[in-house]
Amino acid sequence: MDYTFSTIIEPFRIHSVEPLRLTSAAERRSALAEAGYNVFNLRSTDVLIDLLTDSGTGAMSRDQWAAIQHGDESYAGSPSWFRFEAAVKDLFPFRHVIPTHQGRAAEKILFSVLGGPGKVIPNNTHFDTTRANVEASGATALDMVIPEGRDAAAIHPFKGNIDLEALEALLAERRDDVPVVMLTITNNSGGGQPVSLANIRAASEISHRYGVPLFLDACRFAENAWFIHEREEGQGDREVADIVREVASLADGMTMSAKKDPFGNIGGWLALNDDALAEKCRNVLILTEGFPTYGGLAGRDLEALAQGLSEAVSPDYLRYRIGSTAYLGDALDRAGVPVVKPIGGHAVYLDAKALLAHIPPLQYPGQSLAVALYEAGGVRACEIGTVMFGRQPDGSEVPAAMELVRLAIPRRTYTQSHVDYVIEVVSAVARDAASLPGYRMTYEPAALRHFTARYEPIG
Ligand SMILES: *Cc1c(COP(=O)(O)O)cnc(C)c1O
Repeated sequence: MDYTFSTIIEPFRIHSVEPLRLTSAAERRSALAEAGYNVFNLRSTDVLIDLLTDSGTGAMSRDQWAAIQHGDESYAGSPSWFRFEAAVKDLFPFRHVIPTHQGRAAEKILFSVLGGPGKVIPNNTHFDTTRANVEASGATALDMVIPEGRDAAAIHPFKGNIDLEALEALLAERRDDVPVVMLTITNNSGGGQPVSLANIRAASEISHRYGVPLFLDACRFAENAWFIHEREEGQGDREVADIVREVASLADGMTMSAKKDPFGNIGGWLALNDDALAEKCRNVLILTEGFPTYGGLAGRDLEALAQGLSEAVSPDYLRYRIGSTAYLGDALDRAGVPVVKPIGGHAVYLDAKALLAHIPPLQYPGQSLAVALYEAGGVRACEIGTVMFGRQPDGSEVPAAMELVRLAIPRRTYTQSHVDYVIEVVSAVARDAASLPGYRMTYEPAALRHFTARYEPIG
């Protein structure tokens, strides 16, 4: 008999363990008060299951730790650099690879060269650091995801797609003001939703017809390729790496956080084809990150990333990864918790607008839910709503399109029983959602306010 089983199997076993500390509800309440009700201000040792981000929080493999021993810390021309460059170019064959300490450094370099007042940079949805770096250059960041991508309940296999008509209309009207078109795969701020190969092909065709380069914000390229493999007509028999290479071939460059799919605890890069642009970017790199063969990274980091890139496109890993995230989201959906559907790749997004309808957007329903999840069960999540996106460059505050709370899943880090515990905690908080308070800020920093703001509950 050929049996098939439905249990989600982690395609690895545990080799080294980290202790988790259980806290009491009273300890968590006092930790929250001390943190100004901002979960970013908590000590991570007071957190049981940390779903704040999947960025840099994954577990490295045996082979990555072994690769670290090969790290060569020569200032220039280290063999670790050449291994890293070859691993990047194997999947993303751009002419120039520029290493950076993380993704936002690649963004800072790109937009300080291409941005500036009067410029407009479209994207399906700009991630928070991308938007901040575009705006810091004086340019305008435009989000153009398809309408389904703004509706938490709408079902669409590729809710991360960019609105091609809106893109074409922008380029027809203001082509000279658009130095680059960005496409974020998967669409992190829009629910971790994938972008289809057909949409990337069309965005590439439109951009190139107007003579504008297309750059990928490719942090979750492997998860996006897995969704293409699973959901897109005619793609199911292709190798994941082959899909990734086709996606890269449609673009002119990429920004990358290696803290996401490549299993790095740190790292990133900017890659591109244009020689003159690459030279300008390298000049900024040398000022801010380091020599072009290490960027902001140690040789050992470059080695770990080169190895991680080859593991990121493993079908066994991706099947488990996407399956485990869907298991969490589907269980919450069955328990009546409103979630963004379909379930994304790296995270489950709770719809705080639907769950906490009694809290107005400017009293931060997502923030309230994130605080409650920590208080109830030591689970740390991240608001992606009006706290993150509500403050406008002119100083006004407006509600964000969606009020989400992201449960981001670190890669290869938590077991299925940890996931079961999270399902219990979120379901319990959701049952009592009507009793949760709104919040007001008692301290607000000038930029990226969600990281360091402080709050107090209202009433
Ligand atoms: C994480 C992320 C970035 C920024 O990368 P960092 O390494 O955190 O600086 C940019 N875009 C997207 C879509 C991301 O998820």
